[in-house]
Amino acid sequence: MNKLDLKDMTFEELSGWVASLGEKPFRAKQIFEWVYRGAKSVQEMTNLSKELREQLDSLCEIGHLEIEKKLVSKLDGTIKYLFRLRDGNLIESVLMSYKHGNTICVSSQVGCRMGCRFCASTIGGLVRNLTPSEIIDQVMKAQEDSGRRISNIVMMGIGEPLDNYNAVIKFLKNVNHKDGLKIGYRHISLSTCGVVDRIYDLAKENMPITLSISLHSPFDAQRRKIMPIDVRYPLPELMRALQAYLAATGRRISVEYAMIRGENDTKACAEELAKLFGKMLVHINLIPINPVKERDFKKSESKQVRQFQESLENLGFSVTVRRELGSDINAACGQLRKAVMESKQ
Ligand code: SAH
Repeated sequence: MNKLDLKDMTFEELSGWVASLGEKPFRAKQIFEWVYRGAKSVQEMTNLSKELREQLDSLCEIGHLEIEKKLVSKLDGTIKYLFRLRDGNLIESVLMSYKHGNTICVSSQVGCRMGCRFCASTIGGLVRNLTPSEIIDQVMKAQEDSGRRISNIVMMGIGEPLDNYNAVIKFLKNVNHKDGLKIGYRHISLSTCGVVDRIYDLAKENMPITLSISLHSPFDAQRRKIMPIDVRYPLPELMRALQAYLAATGRRISVEYAMIRGENDTKACAEELAKLFGKMLVHINLIPINPVKERDFKKSESKQVRQFQESLENLGFSVTVRRELGSDINAACGQLRKAVMESKQ
């Protein structure tokens, strides 16, 4: 029989489960604290009776990931982890250090079914969703291994987080919980290609995380050529969902814009982008695209990126160009997992 993974349960679920065993409510708090302090087994929970530990041991476990490979950038100290899941699947996480703290980029799925044409993670399709335990352990393992206290999380690794909604919500609750990892919602960003129905759901969760939208083009005709999700949810629908998210949370929307040479880096695109967002509270993040070997997209020239940034700034937008970290360790998304899988075939 498969044992329950304690890291898959929210505090409320754990409390209900512990009550069903006939235990007092404070036991749930004790167990939860042990789990997020990094206990590897129930036997370490020395403030529980021996009998309870034995009972728990027979029913549940504390899931954890194995580090399959670790690459440390000599340029900026960025660490890329390739984690092996229990069933042998591989996922990536990247730990970046900034002046204001350490940020981890986590994966939410093994592979992805969204099919964005420039992205390495989607090439083999979706293998499976990650469990809440597998998502949170990326944060815990990276913290334990690196000795760096992680203060910020971005869900921008492999997978589409809103395509694994329930697990992602449980993960967010446990990351934020005062007896969990204690990371404030304002220090967490979730990036989506634009799964509109789930954006409305997220707006209702009462979790003021930053929503990042992977826009990449302000024209539906152009966007649907590179992002199939645009066919299902065209820009007018996406914009209404972003407005609703902003209204519900008061959080400024972050717009990701990967710049592809000669495609979406023109003056007309910058102007249309400005029109699309109008007076809406957004921050625009320009990302010179990372070339993926199976695809023939090229990075925009830096002069073009600068001009694009300036035109938007002149129209009153807050714009940054993403700094490239870990360029010596293949830190770009999905590429290490693919390279290792291919070398094993
Ligand atoms: N599925 C989510 C999160 C994962 S991707 C999403 O689509 O937002 C994280 C970000 O990296 C997204 O903005 C995605 O569009 C972008 N991205 C993917 N491949 C890229 C590449 N080759 N170069 C630059 N950005 C890329």
